[in-house]
Amino acid sequence: MLLKDQKDFFKVCFDTMQMGILVYDIHKKIVLSNSPLNQIFNYFKESDVLNLSINNLFEDSIIFDDFIVNSTHKKFKKPIEIVGVKSNGERFPIELNLSKLEYENEYYFKAFISDITERKKEKNRIFNLNSKLEKEVKLQHHELENAIDQLQVSLNKEKELSHLKTKFISLASHEFKTPLSAILSSTELIVKYSDLNSTSKRNEHLDKVKNMIYHLNGMLDDFLTLEHIELGSFIPKFTQFKFSTLINEIIQNIKPFLKENQTLQLKNNITGTIYQDQNILKIVLTNLFNNAIKYSKVNGIIEVEIDEKNSSLFFKIKDNGIGIPKNEQEFIFKRFFRAKNAVFLPGTGIGLNIVKGYIDKLGGAIEFESIENKGTSFVVELPKINNNEKVNIIN
Ligand code: ADP
Repeated sequence: MLLKDQKDFFKVCFDTMQMGILVYDIHKKIVLSNSPLNQIFNYFKESDVLNLSINNLFEDSIIFDDFIVNSTHKKFKKPIEIVGVKSNGERFPIELNLSKLEYENEYYFKAFISDITERKKEKNRIFNLNSKLEKEVKLQHHELENAIDQLQVSLNKEKELSHLKTKFISLASHEFKTPLSAILSSTELIVKYSDLNSTSKRNEHLDKVKNMIYHLNGMLDDFLTLEHIELGSFIPKFTQFKFSTLINEIIQNIKPFLKENQTLQLKNNITGTIYQDQNILKIVLTNLFNNAIKYSKVNGIIEVEIDEKNSSLFFKIKDNGIGIPKNEQEFIFKRFFRAKNAVFLPGTGIGLNIVKGYIDKLGGAIEFESIENKGTSFVVELPKINNNEKVNIIN
């Protein structure tokens, strides 16, 4: 091959390399470049690049200065990434590898350059995909944890409910015995007083039976209410109604349970209508009235005071009965709790727990004061709600 042919051959080889190559001198002046390099930087021909400074092709040429100054380096240990500048000013990522060469006692520097725009894009795409995937996994993990928490809550509720049922069955079998045997003896006596002359005796026992059934029914109601609250299926039903009608009905229902010479004094200052859940009010007040009757002696006085003040309704029920021992007062709203001085009287320890549950749901409060052997007074406060007001129920 002739020398000229050899040169041409080198040139062809140089221009068909896979990457851009350029050579610059110690003044950073470009003295050689191949076609791929010109294409990478968007120059039409080699002459456009020749004699340009390295500074024209790179955003930051400090690395080239370093390499010139630090002549102990022969070449980079591994390629680095820098930002290239095309002839139209566009910035793009480049992978660069530098090495030093000596020609006719002069140092020159060879730069191998690859445009890594596509590779970077792909890397970013994979990075974004990974972080999206990571986020999704985190979200699913979070959802799974929530589901497990909810499952645990349901499981605990289920356990509590099953415990409640077992406890109730053992309580009920005990508590139902007395009223049931009273019903039995009254019905036997009703048969005995079947002649016309004994009408008043018969009616007395019929009333007893009625009251016992009412009492048993109340116990079952308490249990069903508790289950209702426990399952979270309770939604208050608010209506506008005349309060005096409701309180009179409640009093009529509990009057038969008043002991001998026991009196119930009512001072009702709510004369108009209120917007509340009638059923809940009935359960709450009936429970408190029944307790006041049950836990106070014959001749006892039960004072009931009902008021509306500012934005609240107040219900005060005061008795002069056995009271609640001081050291047991903190447990009074706990389910199945019965104070030591109350166990000789019938009861399940469910009532006050239900009352508290309902009052909490209505956003109200219940407080009490009690002195053993002197008496107890309960005060219930419920927020007044307007018919057109949005009701904020606590779940
Ligand atoms: P029960 O009356 O069926 O036992 P409650 O939940 O209504 O259940 O009451 C729980 C306990 O609180 C009672 O057993 C009793 O010890 C005490 N208690 C409630 N009300 C009164 C009251 N008015 N006077 C004295 N003790 C009361």
